[in-house]
Amino acid sequence: RRRVLKKDFSRMNDRQQQAVFHTDGPVLILAGAGSGKTTVLVNRIANLVRYGKAYESTFIQPEFTETDADSCKSYLKGGEISEVTRARLSVSACQPWRIMAITFTNKAAGELKERLCSMLGEPGQDIWASTFHSSCARMLRRDGERLGYSSHFTIYDTDDSRRLMKDVMRDLEINEKTLSHKSILSEISRAKDSLISPEEYESQAGADFRLKVIARAYMAYQRRLADSDAMDFDDLLVNTVRLFEKCPEVLEYYQDRFKYIMVDEYQDTNHAQYRFVGLLAAKHNNLCVVGDDDQSIYKFRGATIENIMNFEQDFPGAMVVRLEQNYRSTQNILDAANAVIAHNLERKGKTLWTAAGAGEKLRLHTAENEQDEADRVARVILDGVAKGRRFSDYAILYRMNSQSLTFERMFAKSGVPHRIIGGTRFFDRKEVRDMIAYLSVINNPGDEIRLRRILNTPKRGIGDKTVDTASQIGQQVGESMFQVISHPEEYPAITKAAAKKLSDFSRMMRELIDKSEEGMAPSELYAELLEQTGYLMFLRAEEPEKAEERIENVQELSTMLQRYEQENGEEASLSGFLEEVALFTDIDNYDAEADSAVLMTIHSAKGLEFPVVFLPGWEEGVFPGNSVLYDPSEVEEERRLAYVAITRAREELYIYNAESRMIFGSTSHNRISRFADEIPGELVERSRSREYAYRPESITFGSALSGGEGTAPKAKTTYRPPIHKPAPAGTYKVGDSVQHKTFGTGLILSATPMANDTLLEIAFDKAGTKKLMANFARLTKL
Ligand code: ATP
Ligand code: MG
Repeated sequence: RRRVLKKDFSRMNDRQQQAVFHTDGPVLILAGAGSGKTTVLVNRIANLVRYGKAYESTFIQPEFTETDADSCKSYLKGGEISEVTRARLSVSACQPWRIMAITFTNKAAGELKERLCSMLGEPGQDIWASTFHSSCARMLRRDGERLGYSSHFTIYDTDDSRRLMKDVMRDLEINEKTLSHKSILSEISRAKDSLISPEEYESQAGADFRLKVIARAYMAYQRRLADSDAMDFDDLLVNTVRLFEKCPEVLEYYQDRFKYIMVDEYQDTNHAQYRFVGLLAAKHNNLCVVGDDDQSIYKFRGATIENIMNFEQDFPGAMVVRLEQNYRSTQNILDAANAVIAHNLERKGKTLWTAAGAGEKLRLHTAENEQDEADRVARVILDGVAKGRRFSDYAILYRMNSQSLTFERMFAKSGVPHRIIGGTRFFDRKEVRDMIAYLSVINNPGDEIRLRRILNTPKRGIGDKTVDTASQIGQQVGESMFQVISHPEEYPAITKAAAKKLSDFSRMMRELIDKSEEGMAPSELYAELLEQTGYLMFLRAEEPEKAEERIENVQELSTMLQRYEQENGEEASLSGFLEEVALFTDIDNYDAEADSAVLMTIHSAKGLEFPVVFLPGWEEGVFPGNSVLYDPSEVEEERRLAYVAITRAREELYIYNAESRMIFGSTSHNRISRFADEIPGELVERSRSREYAYRPESITFGSALSGGEGTAPKAKTTYRPPIHKPAPAGTYKVGDSVQHKTFGTGLILSATPMANDTLLEIAFDKAGTKKLMANFARLTKL
């Protein structure tokens, strides 16, 4: 046993071990990026499942006797533990299902689960490791009836919420120009983060006109959600907390069940999450939270750094562990991160060190424009891969999603395999949304928003007016819209012609609902659905030139359903699948196994690490964004984001700014980011794409205009692709043998002229067939 234990946890340093072996009572692990917080959390769980309190008992503490200690020591060495000690100290291992571990993204939860399973094997499966939202969804499926929901309630995503809010605004005659649906929704979301109900909101609004309007919208929005047996994302948390408060027996059930609770990234919890955790842990008081005040980056979503700052007061007797050794990055990267974050005033203050050595200097490159920036990145990646790195070693982390497009295009041209997290997600595509709406209505016919979406898609000649009438009748007679359209002929307000169309539609849906209730597998049901609705034909007729891609997406959904069924076996259900879909966040698209470079926002990269990180767009107005002009406290939040960004890198870090950049349709010339200036010069190697740009007269000219130092002179915004081998695009022919720096030798299969370039299809001997643009391909003819 002892040997096993040593092998188990010997990698941990002393402080980490202290946190791992301290099993009972509140624990706060407060430490900087890459210091092993998440690692400690995983090991702490492993210790609980394997040894319980045995190790802790070998440190003599008041409640342990010498005999207990001896007994535990022999237990750890592989001997037997005395019955008395076992009973007194509950030394025996904690059952895995009594442990809950919570993180923020599905990706992080998946990783946690994976690490637990690889450490613990089978029992790892039983640990409740998930996100806040999916834990809540699970609890509400079980007990939501007590709040008036069915166990099939629908989860609305952002787009559904928007539609519903627009409906509500139309009903209440709130003009989008006076108050946009977006600002109302974000106000409601903030209220929910703080657990403020519509009624409380109204009473707080007082005489403020704007707040009163929002209060009315909030009230109506919640009523409509309840009528549709639906919740939005924020409701999952709010309702779980309500459930706990309203039904003590439910709370007690979970309090008893979860003996140990752990929360990763605690600095990003909002008030509702804080309540949720506090209530659950109140009985056993075995709450371990880990976090880093310097990485709090979700203030805009109501996260409050106070939750971590006040932990010791909220949970008296908490053990506080501080970790300072970083195991992720080189000293140069850490020094840069430390220097930048030191400019923030609101922080507890800590400095990271590493035994890893200085490593390479950081690279700070000034590109001509955003295309040049993306091209530089592509070149660094291709060079690195040629020297033996994998594509998946590289991550491009940007401030705004809109920055990804340039990279996407440039990478496609130069053959860098990549995946984008965010942007137009698969589930945001129209055709995918339509199909999900159909499945949702089959699962829950009370879902009016989804029903409205599909009533006339594909076109069935059901007009908006008919739809509105049916909805109004429903509200008047207290029936769901689906019920109304199931017997429309009963209502004189609906014309005969419309009634026929509505009942045709509802009959078709009813058949599908019946099949689903009889237990037809979701994937079969889906095939049936496509057949019955003629949706594919509709796609072909609607926009023939886009049909092929859209049909592929519809079919991809079918693949997903089948995969879901394979993974879940007996337990697979339509509502289960829809739940997974609803909880799908951007980060889930990222598969670390596949060898491709990954692009994502800095926010989504929280908790992750990569050997090489690129940080494009380090310019004033981009990062930090313009919001800092209006609210100086935003600077600290943005700086924490810079700290998160820098500390994702293990070995190499590349930072870019551009002389000119096209953002939101117009070209701007931004000064280099203050965060780049905050990195000590000796850690950085600087370079720029256009050395000649800085003639003295242009500097004078630039400074005179803006008054700022280092303002880039007006650069021409046209981008000239780099010419590597001056073989003009047109000279490549089918059958030519070529050499590519990264992909090796290959044979040209096709050459299609396009604008000023040629699209080449090349069969590489080792790398397979790729499509590359000649001007970007860096080829040599053989
Ligand atoms: P973040 O703040 O970014 O979430 P973190 O504090 O959670 O970071 P981890 O992700 O747990 O840090 O660890 C960072 C890296 O250091 C990981 O690659 C992990 O495997 C490694 N690591 C952690 N502890 C040790 C250790 N004692 N010895 C060697 N490597 C370690
Ligand atoms: Mg972590």
